Amino acid sequence: MDLLSLMQSHGHELVEFHQDPGTGLKAIIAVHSTVLGNALGGTRRWAYASTHDAIYDVLRLSEGMTYKAAAADLPMGGAKSVIVLDKPGQQPTEAEGRAMGRFVEAFHGKYIAAEDVGVSPQFCDWMAMETKHIMGGENVSTGGDPSPWTSQGVFNSMKACLEAAGDTEFSGLTIGIQGCGATGFKLAKLCRAAGAAVLVTDVHVPSMKRCVEELGCMAVGNDKNLFHEELDVLAPCALGAVLGPETIPQLRCRIICGTANNQLVEPVRDGRALKERGIAYAPDFIANAGGLIRLAGLYLGLTEQQIDEKVAGIEHTTHEVLREALSTTSTAEAAIAYAKRRIEKTPAPTAALG
Ligand code: NAD
Repeated sequence: MDLLSLMQSHGHELVEFHQDPGTGLKAIIAVHSTVLGNALGGTRRWAYASTHDAIYDVLRLSEGMTYKAAAADLPMGGAKSVIVLDKPGQQPTEAEGRAMGRFVEAFHGKYIAAEDVGVSPQFCDWMAMETKHIMGGENVSTGGDPSPWTSQGVFNSMKACLEAAGDTEFSGLTIGIQGCGATGFKLAKLCRAAGAAVLVTDVHVPSMKRCVEELGCMAVGNDKNLFHEELDVLAPCALGAVLGPETIPQLRCRIICGTANNQLVEPVRDGRALKERGIAYAPDFIANAGGLIRLAGLYLGLTEQQIDEKVAGIEHTTHEVLREALSTTSTAEAAIAYAKRRIEKTPAPTAALG
């Protein structure tokens, strides 16, 4: 399908491409929806196999942000950006960050950037030297690393899934975490503090070792697929598209609840496949909204208490979606319907934010 047809079928408002001859920056910004307000979404730095893959990623991620903001009851739309690296592991530079900042600035606040995979608070601050429409820095912009709020939100969502399954305690449970980075490590810490046994895996061995040494987690080895382990909860906390026809038949878990975006390869098909297998899936954009709530909340002027209450509310939202999914085809579809209802019933803001 060509790009315009893809945009039309998924409802994207705007997709812009940019290349900066001075720095070699290649980037795409996709604004999926501004119906509820201006759109905040992270910037991902990644070495994609092709431009097609980068477009596919930014379109999927930006659509997910619309649902994430709506389901979290934030007056914000959905957008995302990607920086296309020439090779994996390419080190970020101030010149690259500033070039990306100028690209973001061209949206005049309709798009507000933040961190995502490959982008640090330092990179956000470099972007902030060229635009005020950026969250997640520590010195030039504000917000810092949102991962503690993301992990807390996923933990809250996990509690709802467990309660729905009749479990009130974490002790005695086994939770498997794929990816021990910023969010996975903090989720492991929360699960361990609550008394669960935690199995971890990561392609970056030092990150996995840190969970073992500091938190008492058990490593399953980076070459062993955590998706075959017998678990109460599987928490995908690395990259997306990990739940599809190849993995779902192998799963031996009761619940899936993790921080990764776009966990399902094909949301309708794979959401239904999980339901058929009797696995409760906490839709990613419901469970992992804590980081967005934190950064969007600061951008919108919410207090720390209001932000924490909203992150706590993820438990209630998960309960609602699980309940609605009983009479529908899957939690994935119930969550999209839940977010779309909020978009339809919320009056559009009269003045632009930012
Ligand atoms: P991160 O880069 O800090 O950590 C990801 C970890 O996953 C890394 O340690 C990496 O080595 C590991 N990994 C990559 N591929 C793997 C594989 N195949 N098997 C095992 N481990 C693998 O990223 P993060 O900030 O923790 O984000 C993780 C996911 O959560 C991403 O999908 C991100 O988009 C999503 N997310 C993050 C936030 C946030 O606040 N950081 C918010 C919402 C969603």
